[in-house]
Amino acid sequence: ERRTLSRLRDVPAITRDGVRLQLQANIELPSEIDSVLAAGAEGIGLFRSEFMYMNRDDLPSEDEQYQVMRTVVERMAGRPVTIRTLDVGGDKLAHSLGIIPGPNPALGLRAIRLSLARPELLDMQMAAILRASVHGPVRILVPMVATIAEVTAARAARDRAAITLCRAGHVLPDPLPPLGVMIEIPGAALSADSLARHADFFSIGTNDLTQYTLAIDRADEAVAHLYNPLHPAVLRLIQFTAEAANRAGIPVGVCGEVAGDPRYVGLLLGLGIHDLSMSATNIPVVKKRIRTLEYSQVRGFAQTVMSQSETARISQLLEQFNQDAG
Ligand code: PEP
Ligand code: MG
Repeated sequence: ERRTLSRLRDVPAITRDGVRLQLQANIELPSEIDSVLAAGAEGIGLFRSEFMYMNRDDLPSEDEQYQVMRTVVERMAGRPVTIRTLDVGGDKLAHSLGIIPGPNPALGLRAIRLSLARPELLDMQMAAILRASVHGPVRILVPMVATIAEVTAARAARDRAAITLCRAGHVLPDPLPPLGVMIEIPGAALSADSLARHADFFSIGTNDLTQYTLAIDRADEAVAHLYNPLHPAVLRLIQFTAEAANRAGIPVGVCGEVAGDPRYVGLLLGLGIHDLSMSATNIPVVKKRIRTLEYSQVRGFAQTVMSQSETARISQLLEQFNQDAG
């Protein structure tokens, strides 16, 4: 088993009828890069930069962040690295930022909202990211976007940081790293067609998208049994987002937990998703599954699923599909 999985490292994630998927890794710390490379990841689809802010009393400087990002970019040796700007608040509180949780942190000042409320944080991150982009292909990912205005403001912060760096003598890549948007708020998914005109790519965060669509705290044990990304509403939001991105000609991926679950990959591909980012350890099993699939078949399967109205029935269909084709 172990040997089969390691042999999988060097073969492409391709369906039996030749549709190629891109499998990337989610990381929190640069120490994970060894396992990312061992798993054969084609890039970093999600670098959760907030982990540089956790478990400490002070803030990481621009230079410290740059060094960490540069290490990741260099070790990925030409493969793309997607760096997400600070996503704190909600379940992720960074002590060093002195955030006082509001009445409902999940709906409060968090992620891009916090970054825009404290522009010095965003400026510093953008500068670190841009400096890292000198060492290899980098993409910028903005978490918890709800509005076009937030995308525009994040892009302005990127451009401002670029001007400052250039004035200080840095030579940056031209064009600058693309700026993508996390689709993890239902309102963002429902405006995916408009957001697609302002974003260079989408990454669908199904963990939060499920939480906010179903109003179920993803960390609350008492309602964990109700948390299910196969709810038709969540699937419709994924489908709408994928179709909007594909129509606009921008890349769209999924980076939530479902991306790393081999049971979901057929459905996601059938909904128009070709990029998956997951914990590195899941890459081999997901790839193995992809290599058993037929694109023509998963398209039809996704259609069947999307005509269903009950989560339980969808779960059943999915199980059946995975047994038949597995
Ligand atoms: C998500 O919400 O699906 C996601 C990938 O981001 P995080 O789990 O870091 O909130
Ligand atoms: Mg999220």
